[in-house]
Amino acid sequence: MSFAQLGLSDPILNAISDLDYAQPTEIQAKAIPLVLKGEDLIASAQTGTGKTASFVLPILHQLNNDEAVRARSIRALILVPTRELAKQVESSIQAYSQNLELSSLAIYGGTSVESDKQALAQGIDILVATPGRLLDMAYQRAVFFDDLAFLVLDEADKMLDMGFIEDIHKIIDRLPASRQSLLFSATLDGKVRHLADAVYPDAVEVKVAPKGQTPN
Ligand code: AMP
Repeated sequence: MSFAQLGLSDPILNAISDLDYAQPTEIQAKAIPLVLKGEDLIASAQTGTGKTASFVLPILHQLNNDEAVRARSIRALILVPTRELAKQVESSIQAYSQNLELSSLAIYGGTSVESDKQALAQGIDILVATPGRLLDMAYQRAVFFDDLAFLVLDEADKMLDMGFIEDIHKIIDRLPASRQSLLFSATLDGKVRHLADAVYPDAVEVKVAPKGQTPN
């Protein structure tokens, strides 16, 4: 399986080739075609499996065929548990979208609210956010979700362990129902299963083995 066989556009394939990714990882080979088809997805995939590209690449592909973003609007939202992951995911987006005219931004607590507001004012294609800071921005009317087409919950198990369940529901309540929704988590049991059943009732489930283990 090669990246070219997955159906991604040339500017994205060129970026991947610049990064010297020889072939898709297991989660990428499984998830990318499903996301390109418009499916909702819940995936068990740990850090190190290449999970970030498995949702970023097909979202970039679909956003690139679409319209320009409006002021204070976003088109894709990636919720993450920590500022470290927010920065890391946003830097992956920068690398994967280097040949595209798409904007991305990471927002998280502990930084200037005013500078986040200014950055959001022009409109952002892909926003990576921790739940608390995102709600803060929504309450201050610095960000609107009317044009949102994609929601990703990344490291959902960690977000729930950190007590973000209420914030996540408050955010999801504000999003258009017509969106495509993806969830990535190291495990898909307990609280995560409960959330997935509630928010992603029609999702396709994808499992991959942790890095270094054989799939079961
Ligand atoms: P992640 O699991 O998304 O945190 O990715 C783990 C690491 O694997 C990151 O450093 C990525 O740059 C790298 N990576 C992702 N996909 C591939 C691939 N197909 N080939 C080689 N490296 C990759």
